[in-house]
Amino acid sequence: MSELLLSAKNLTKRFGGLAAVQGVSVDLWRDHIHAVIGPNGAGKSTLTNLLSGDLPPTSGSVMLDQHDVTGWSPSRISARGLGRSYQKTNIFLPFTVWENIRLAAQSREPHAASWLRRATNLEAINARAERALELSGLQSRKNSVAGAISHGEQRQLEIAMTLATQPQVLLLDEPLAGMGVAEAERMVALLLSIKKDHGMLLVEHDMDAVFTLADQLTVMVNGQVIASGTPAQIRADAGVQAAYLGE
Ligand code: ADP
Ligand code: MG
Repeated sequence: MSELLLSAKNLTKRFGGLAAVQGVSVDLWRDHIHAVIGPNGAGKSTLTNLLSGDLPPTSGSVMLDQHDVTGWSPSRISARGLGRSYQKTNIFLPFTVWENIRLAAQSREPHAASWLRRATNLEAINARAERALELSGLQSRKNSVAGAISHGEQRQLEIAMTLATQPQVLLLDEPLAGMGVAEAERMVALLLSIKKDHGMLLVEHDMDAVFTLADQLTVMVNGQVIASGTPAQIRADAGVQAAYLGE
């Protein structure tokens, strides 16, 4: 059995009268990709925000690395080993690829570190950044300005920046959005190559990618889970076909 890294129970998020997420539970295991699919407005991004601490849940709980992190700030949750990408990109466009990755790697260091500690940590920061650059497949773009690389490469850079913080758990919100076929294939290969060391939540609309990548699928509609299971089970689910896949 693989290791349970994150377990969210019965999460609910209300915005006024709207229950954007209603009683949703998800488990993330190491070396597993848990995909969350569903139509626009289903609550997928809100769910990732609840797991990352960007939004506090109205009710429910999140366990990460055996700690109850419910209500923790995003930076505290990140320091516990959760990394995320956003649906909108987080890149500093005027900086180079390397500078972006380097900054992300540095952001993991405690701010109050002494000068001696900072100097010692420099090596560790560079090593983390190098490793993330390598994993992301962007070595040839290392010194390119981030604003000048392709859309697909920018999404790879986002993954690299997330990896540079050395997370155990990765939350990826539509990493293939706006990609052409070749770019999407490269991203799928990248996600497969990093899967082994991480627990991953993948929100994605590209069903070819989802069914290639996912070990487990959760289908959300109107804030609620209408089905959860293996890709084969979800494909065969008549309710899911009607609500989403048959679109
Ligand atoms: P998805 O990512 O599945 O497309 P979202 O999680 O973005 O869905 O949104 C779910 C529902 O919650 C939508 O109806 C959306 O309008 C609403 N919503 C999301 N964020 C907020 C917010 N900050 N304030 C009010 N309503 C929100
Ligand atoms: Mg969304």
